[in-house]
Amino acid sequence: MTKVVVVSTGGTIASRVDRERGFVTSRASGTELVGLLPQPTAVAVEVDDFVMVGSFLFDLDLVFRLTQRIAAHLDDPAVAGVVVTQGTDTMEESVFMADLLIDSDKPVVFTGAQRHADELDSDGPRNLGDAIKVAAAPEARGLGAMIVFEQELHAARDVTKVHAARVGTFASAEHGKLGEVDGERVIVHRRPTLRRVIAAERIEPRVDLVKLVMGSDGRFIDHAVADGAQAIVLEAFGRGNATLAVVDAVRRATANGVLVLVTTRCPQGRVLPVYGNGGGKDLVATGAVFAGDLSGIKARILLAVLLAGGRSRSEVIDLVSAMAG
Ligand code: ASP
Repeated sequence: MTKVVVVSTGGTIASRVDRERGFVTSRASGTELVGLLPQPTAVAVEVDDFVMVGSFLFDLDLVFRLTQRIAAHLDDPAVAGVVVTQGTDTMEESVFMADLLIDSDKPVVFTGAQRHADELDSDGPRNLGDAIKVAAAPEARGLGAMIVFEQELHAARDVTKVHAARVGTFASAEHGKLGEVDGERVIVHRRPTLRRVIAAERIEPRVDLVKLVMGSDGRFIDHAVADGAQAIVLEAFGRGNATLAVVDAVRRATANGVLVLVTTRCPQGRVLPVYGNGGGKDLVATGAVFAGDLSGIKARILLAVLLAGGRSRSEVIDLVSAMAG
């Protein structure tokens, strides 16, 4: 019988109301979650309780260890795929790190819920059941790590959380979903072509993300450099524009050997150096690197993985370009 491992980590899908303390918190084990499935699964399910926390408490090191745990399960020839149950808040970051680090054709499927396990209409059981189907599906092999939520499959590189509370919270902006689950069927519409698997023995946590707002100055960039950042991701305006003060700060950062990656704060679209006088052309002239349509959040994960491997600056930039398309 096909086997799928469910690695549980907490999050809303595993949360219940603590009436004494007056809040909702992660407390349901993986075995409890599997016990809530609306119908028996057609595959054998093994459970691995990894941690029990909201995903807002995750950090890069924890997710790095999670990816190692997933990879160890996938090494077992009896395992067809792995499902990770996690909080939705940082799921797009975890799934992207897993996509970058795990060298396997077997499906790695992240899922969760927006309504906790004590809500009568919790979306957790359906999402988990669908995720198990995808993890076991031959059609889902070679898609990398993905999120399965609200019957949709989303690629790690493109998926983002778009609603704070509603159940249809994951979307892949202009690239669209990979496929869908329809009853027992898993239907794949497209395959991600910009995936890369990257070897890393550890993770570089000193990568900062700075979002620009109207009138931004250089304080956050200067502080990140002074505090030891190895790289900074800028969420710049539109096509990758900044202010004159930010351009000056980026020049100081790159002169200090800090890699600066430029992304857009727009939810969709690519950065391209077009404008002078504070625009993207000025940023490129300082040595900053443009990152296509990778979101700031994904670009930070990518650098955390790339910078840990002792790669040269040009190797890092080549890999960023390959992922940026
Ligand atoms: N709201 C979150 C969730 O959907 C909480 C978390 O990320 O753990 O699970």
